[in-house]
Amino acid sequence: MEYKLIRQKRKTIAISINEKGQIIVKAPIKTPINKIEAFIQEKQHWIEKHLKKVEGVKSFEGNFDFKNNAYILGKEYKLQEIDICFPKAEDRGFQNKLHNLYLSLAEQKLPKMVEEISSGLKYNSIKLCNSKRIWGSFDRNYNMKLNWRLIMLPEELVNYVIIHELCHGLELNHSQAFWKEVSVHCQNYKTIKKQLELYSFLLQFNI
Ligand SMILES: [Zn+2]
Repeated sequence: MEYKLIRQKRKTIAISINEKGQIIVKAPIKTPINKIEAFIQEKQHWIEKHLKKVEGVKSFEGNFDFKNNAYILGKEYKLQEIDICFPKAEDRGFQNKLHNLYLSLAEQKLPKMVEEISSGLKYNSIKLCNSKRIWGSFDRNYNMKLNWRLIMLPEELVNYVIIHELCHGLELNHSQAFWKEVSVHCQNYKTIKKQLELYSFLLQFNI
């Protein structure tokens, strides 16, 4: 198994897999190589599981054509037709500026979606964020951050992320109690979570 070994000042060995499917092993400077190899061997099952996930994401990504299409709430729009599909976009002078289109649609639609599905769950403010790692966050003061790239995902997935963040208003962790709360508002959250994983490549999306 090929892997990239990074020796650094640390106490334990750690394995991670990046979005390209490369295995990265970080190890303390003096750990002998046979110990590192044994550790990798031990984690074989985990590695294979995660490589499979990365492969799944990569092949799913192949369904998208960002050169010719825009993706708004899971629907595909031809870039040439974007002005026809979103005539309002022109008003704000972002013709041909896809980034602004996404941002402005995220600004318009995401807070509305939160309002619609919050069903009594408390929140204070909603801000868009530009994270390359997470879809959203929620702090103990009930302030929610939503990644603007959510506007590209199918509505059902966006709703799940919103519910997930809102439920952090009750439980700030990912405990059993938290998932129970999520399931009250989103019964098929397990399936949706798996779908959301396939879209994780979009977190790296930039224009
Ligand atoms: Zn969470």
